[in-house]
Amino acid sequence: MRNWIFVKVLTNEPGLYGWGEATLEWHTRSVVGAIEDVSELIIGEDPHRIEHLWQMMWRQHFWHGSGVVRSTAISGIDIALWDLLGKSHGVPCHRLWGGPVRDEIRLYCHLGGGKLESFYETPVDSAKQFGELARNAVDDGFSAFKSMAVPPTLPLEGLKPVKAAEACVAAMREAVGDDVDIMVDCHARPSPAMGLKFATALEPYGLYFLEEPCWPENPESLAAINRAVSTPIATGERLTHLAAFRDLFAVRGCEVCQLDLTHCGGFTEARRIAALADAHRISLAPHNPQGPVSTAASLEFGFAQPSYVICESVHNDVPWRDDVVSEGFEVDPTRRIVTPNTRPGLGIEINEAEVKKHPFEQEVPQRVFYQDGSVGDW
Ligand SMILES: [Mg+2]
Repeated sequence: MRNWIFVKVLTNEPGLYGWGEATLEWHTRSVVGAIEDVSELIIGEDPHRIEHLWQMMWRQHFWHGSGVVRSTAISGIDIALWDLLGKSHGVPCHRLWGGPVRDEIRLYCHLGGGKLESFYETPVDSAKQFGELARNAVDDGFSAFKSMAVPPTLPLEGLKPVKAAEACVAAMREAVGDDVDIMVDCHARPSPAMGLKFATALEPYGLYFLEEPCWPENPESLAAINRAVSTPIATGERLTHLAAFRDLFAVRGCEVCQLDLTHCGGFTEARRIAALADAHRISLAPHNPQGPVSTAASLEFGFAQPSYVICESVHNDVPWRDDVVSEGFEVDPTRRIVTPNTRPGLGIEINEAEVKKHPFEQEVPQRVFYQDGSVGDW
């Protein structure tokens, strides 16, 4: 479903380069073009002056880098620059930021491990199937997983979709018991009114978090839902710069900040967002359904950020995931717990010959229309 965009920043020092990721589904050609445009600003500059280069990428060319295409391009380059800096000093990225703040990080998976059909297309009238997929996640070693148990709805609907969502979550809870953490991603499908109904109905099931219960453009509506339930509300994957997070946190629109390192301006901006989240005592659980460079980035970030609580991971989206990358961190497959990478930078190596076997393919469209023919959110 996603074309992974890997960014390689080269230097004139033999063997010194960095890897980043700038994957943005359905915008692949735009991001690749944006990387070309932005790179004009920094080619020939000192790669160790990351903040200086970031300021150039974000502020020069007149337009600030806050649109998602440009912010994704900047993020991919910024991540590669930090990888490069770590390699230059011979230490993992998290050691550049003060050293590890924890011994291990817990991974969570998507139902079905990231297989498009299982995660995005299991209909919510198949509560039993949600229960089975939940059981599979736990059998795979995960102690936490995310599901899409809230269907697309018109701005106002009655009980039926709410009961369907509740049945799915009840089936998952029944299948895995109370010791496993269940998350539900609403994909910002509901209106604020419907989001509140779903949040209220799912409250008794003790979700670890409820994600994007309404549009991210409505921080006040997110805040209203966050106030109305004890379930922590999560959001942030579609915000691309510090000021947007400032506005979200100021109204307490979430308890869990899902900044995406590959969209929010890379590590440079993410560290500022994390500091702001800390001031509000908001947890960090970065959005990461993308490729392996993004996962390595999330983990390096997590080992350096006290408020980081869990790492989103996809392990079953394409069968060749492990062919294109070698990783420096260790995953205990029985518990899906990660211990820190000890290699320099992000600790990854990309097999470019393998990457070449998977050229761009047009992403499968995921277009949603409601029963009356009007346009809905995926
Ligand atoms: Mg999401």
